[in-house]
Amino acid sequence: MRIVDIRPTTVTVPLEAPLRHANGCHWGRFVRTIVEVEADNGLVGLGEMGGGGESAEAVFRAMKTYLVGHDPVRLEQMRFLIANPTASLYNNRTQILGALEFACLDLLGQAWGVPVCDLLGGRLRDRVPFASYLFFRYPNPSSGSGEVRTVDQVIANARSLKERFGFTTHKVKSGVFPPDYDLECYRAVAETFPADRVRFDCNAVWSTEQAIRFGQAIEGLNNDYLEDPVYGMNGMRRVREKVRVPLATNTVVVGFEQLAANILDTAVDVILLDTTFWGGVRPCVKAAGVCETFQLGVAVHSSGELGIQLATMLHLGAVIPNLSFAADAHYHHLADDIIEGGLMRYDAGAIAVPNGPGLGVKLDRDKLEGYRELYRELGPYAYDQDPNRPGWAPLIPNDRWADPEDDRTPVL
Ligand SMILES: [Mg+2]
Repeated sequence: MRIVDIRPTTVTVPLEAPLRHANGCHWGRFVRTIVEVEADNGLVGLGEMGGGGESAEAVFRAMKTYLVGHDPVRLEQMRFLIANPTASLYNNRTQILGALEFACLDLLGQAWGVPVCDLLGGRLRDRVPFASYLFFRYPNPSSGSGEVRTVDQVIANARSLKERFGFTTHKVKSGVFPPDYDLECYRAVAETFPADRVRFDCNAVWSTEQAIRFGQAIEGLNNDYLEDPVYGMNGMRRVREKVRVPLATNTVVVGFEQLAANILDTAVDVILLDTTFWGGVRPCVKAAGVCETFQLGVAVHSSGELGIQLATMLHLGAVIPNLSFAADAHYHHLADDIIEGGLMRYDAGAIAVPNGPGLGVKLDRDKLEGYRELYRELGPYAYDQDPNRPGWAPLIPNDRWADPEDDRTPVL
């Protein structure tokens, strides 16, 4: 099998409501770039990457000079061809490699008639559990609904997500509001669902001292872990010395060099594996193996996915033995998807690992075209800007919090 073409398509898919986070906001939609890798036998493998537009499409098209004629089974060769570690000092293509790796795995699975998880050691589980992923949200500017800002709204949203999807793990995502307000909301979630697991992520915007104060205040709750309370391995290490809650990261351990450093002088207990950040599904499986050896925890991270990337997360979750926590997904905040059959379904808080050959998902051509048009209409959005606070940027550590009393609907 040989690669004959690489076709990128940037799309915008609506969210139920704008999702607020410590660095800004998802402005009511996700922008993703879908990549189709066609082989000389007519098969087409699918990949996906965050962000996009002309620049992402141009980078994928530029990869044709490297990869047309390449056998998709030679995945390690592809790594050194387009993303070897020293050449990457000039031109980091880790995320590009990730999307192309998904597509090559999809091609191989289709050619051999097996799901991707069978190429990766075989499944240990048929379904992957997910956490509820509770964001603060602005109201949807079109409908005026969907706001999550007050403690009551946080709880109502958590109850609704639990009822609709069956979650028994709740991740509170903030770093948006003053830490004491975040603490009040987190405690309210833990107290509302005493039999469920909880986790908190402020995206590394606190000072070390603030992180210690928060971490000590939540000891005794049903915590999975405290995720990225501070930025930097040394800050994490100082927090870990003083807080009896495991720490997790998708920020300071996102590659093998950092994983080695974390093992030699441990700062983080749980490594959140992201199939994009690590450059593919296979690097995540390798990293999970290192974590298994050194008895670090792992979970599956979400960088904001449509169905293709979700499939990579499901195949990853299926094959790693040491998946001891529910995975994260932004997926249930989406209003639609670009795969056949529409959004994948949750059952009792979990999604079934696809059984079909390859990734087990197919493009819905009409949806792809429709959301490509929507991208052309709306363009990109500033992920690291808050639409209600133009020019704002958080400090690290931050002291420029949003006001929980501010109930304005943004103009998007
Ligand atoms: Mg995180």
